[in-house]
Amino acid sequence: MDSRTVGILGGGQLGRMLVEAANKLNIKTVVLDAENSPAKQVSNSTEHLVGSFSNPNDIRKLASKCDILTIEIEHVDVPTLKSLKDEFPKLQISPSPETIELIQDKYKQKEFLIKNKIQVAESVAITNPTEESLQSIGKKFGYPFMLKARTFAYDGRGNFVVKNESSIPEALEALKGSKLYAEKWAPFVKELSVMIVRTLDNRVYAYPVVETIHKNNICHLCYCPAELPNSIRLKAALLAENAIKAFSGAGIFGVEMFLLDNGDILINEIAPRPHNSGHYTIDACVTSQFEAHLRAILNLPIPRSFSKLPTNNTTIMLNLLGDKDVPNGELKICERALQTPGAFVYLYGKESRPGRKVGHINIVSSSMQECQRRLDYITGKSNKPVV
Ligand code: ATP
Ligand code: MG
Ligand code: MG
Repeated sequence: MDSRTVGILGGGQLGRMLVEAANKLNIKTVVLDAENSPAKQVSNSTEHLVGSFSNPNDIRKLASKCDILTIEIEHVDVPTLKSLKDEFPKLQISPSPETIELIQDKYKQKEFLIKNKIQVAESVAITNPTEESLQSIGKKFGYPFMLKARTFAYDGRGNFVVKNESSIPEALEALKGSKLYAEKWAPFVKELSVMIVRTLDNRVYAYPVVETIHKNNICHLCYCPAELPNSIRLKAALLAENAIKAFSGAGIFGVEMFLLDNGDILINEIAPRPHNSGHYTIDACVTSQFEAHLRAILNLPIPRSFSKLPTNNTTIMLNLLGDKDVPNGELKICERALQTPGAFVYLYGKESRPGRKVGHINIVSSSMQECQRRLDYITGKSNKPVV
């Protein structure tokens, strides 16, 4: 579909699914990450690079082989990306390094959103992480409040719930060495998420609004469409679109939000890449989030209906985490999914370790009740197979 080569910084599961989408359209990809990383396993190119997305020389090597650079993780070396403009004037970087820079520091991201009149949870930077400074934050925000690492956070690693004044020493110890900020507790009734596509000519399109359920800070389930009054659905989609309009550069973005009981919606955080809450799009939507990302950065056509959930499609995504007790024990869940109509299993080619994201299952059916019935069988909550 396009003769240009797309270089991907990062070769985890998001990179793997990007490569799969690129393969479908015969678009050449080159991956920079460790040997045999999940994305490399699905593409036999000899050009993949063994190295790191945080190493300047490795990034430069990748740039020398590609027409377009993109990311599957935001924790990349931004100063190097910015410096590539001089060395490789024709190279396109999507999303823009400036956007990645703003987003990879969660506090800077918040400041930027506030400047653009987007509602977020009240936050304060911590320059001097002492018990006294956290006590005064506790007085201001009340308890619980969130202590968060500004950078390199994922799957809740980098978050600590400060329940009361006596948990402050433990919080400081847990996040020792990280640049920190504190965030007021958001008493949400639902967590929502929307995938947004931004084109090279700055058009912005939203996928449906989904509800995510987190367990131990890791996304566990994703329901699409989210069960919401239409007014809230529209408000969430509009907020996500407006937030992404404020950033620069093309590609797919994941927008995580908190719905409060008074109907207010706050943005939790934004990911400048494909997102766990968008995996359902592979089987439920006309175009997956991964293909949409490629179409956006390659300036390929994106008809208005690309993000539509075909009539009567409802879907639940279940994340597969490495079993806590039995090595590869999670494969039992996959086996039950394979017995279930409308269930699609994705395994990422990662070594199974307790609690590690190793795959996901999409369940697609004509009603949420039916999706739930199938999920109950897959997870073992019910023993009645769905035929
Ligand atoms: P991700 O894997 O999505 O990048 P992360 O490590 O960046 O996760 P956050 O998104 O900041 O972490 O938080 C993880 C989860 O913790 C949220 O999805 C939400 O359930 C809870 N959480 C985060 N911030 C708050 C808050 N201010 N109030 C209440 N709950 C919160
Ligand atoms: Mg995050
Ligand atoms: Mg998050």
